[in-house]
Amino acid sequence: MKKILIFGAFAAFGLTATSCCRQPEADNQNQLLLATAWYQQSAEMRACYYQAYRMAQMALDNNLSNYKGDKRPAVVLDIDETVLDNSPFEAGLIAANQSYSDSLWRVWTDRAEAAPLPGAAEFISYARQKGVDVFFISNRRDEERATTLQNLAAAGMPTDSAFLLTIAPGESSCKDSRREKVSETHEILLFVGDNMGDYSSLFDRRNASLALGLTDSLQADFGTRFIVLPNPMYGEWENAIYRAKGAKSRSEKNKTILERLKL
Ligand SMILES: [Mg+2]
Repeated sequence: MKKILIFGAFAAFGLTATSCCRQPEADNQNQLLLATAWYQQSAEMRACYYQAYRMAQMALDNNLSNYKGDKRPAVVLDIDETVLDNSPFEAGLIAANQSYSDSLWRVWTDRAEAAPLPGAAEFISYARQKGVDVFFISNRRDEERATTLQNLAAAGMPTDSAFLLTIAPGESSCKDSRREKVSETHEILLFVGDNMGDYSSLFDRRNASLALGLTDSLQADFGTRFIVLPNPMYGEWENAIYRAKGAKSRSEKNKTILERLKL
């Protein structure tokens, strides 16, 4: 009930800011309902995360044993829906029939109470024990850094601020420049994320092909260089479907999804 009241209060202000990754949309209940239920309530979701982080550990061991360079080894993880679970935020949107906005997102991240995702804290500890530096490259913004560090610590994944790379004012959500910054001092042996853009900017702003062929062409990287986690609630995968048809309203988006589904 507390969450509904918070979201209801924001609805009254009519906040409509847009995000780098998310588009505001009215009446998103049907769109989010089953995806959020699966993410939050299914044993399958938990097993997927344990499986992915076990694979991450194996891939890191392998890449570390083959690494002969001079730079310090590193792993790069995304934060949202990779190490922290924001599904209560999505559930709050559903409960209050609210659309996504940066302002509502900020209310949620300010609370710094997102739970750790299964296997994440254990993997981070494992990597550090192996002498691997753990970086977080997130599309949270600079003004969210303090609460993000607080949340990571509360979730059992404390980190020094130097290992957290967020979006500076005027900077794009593309993670290339921040990956390059890490690569100046480190060899990145493994990436973990719920969005393909957490691995390569080739997957940012996908065209009508939805980057499906590109994914096939890079299949040897998955499970070895990039560990991908499931996020059916939101992501560039969804934006790409709408962008191809220029769908803006919820009804246009739903129509576009129906047109794209294979029969
Ligand atoms: Mg993410």
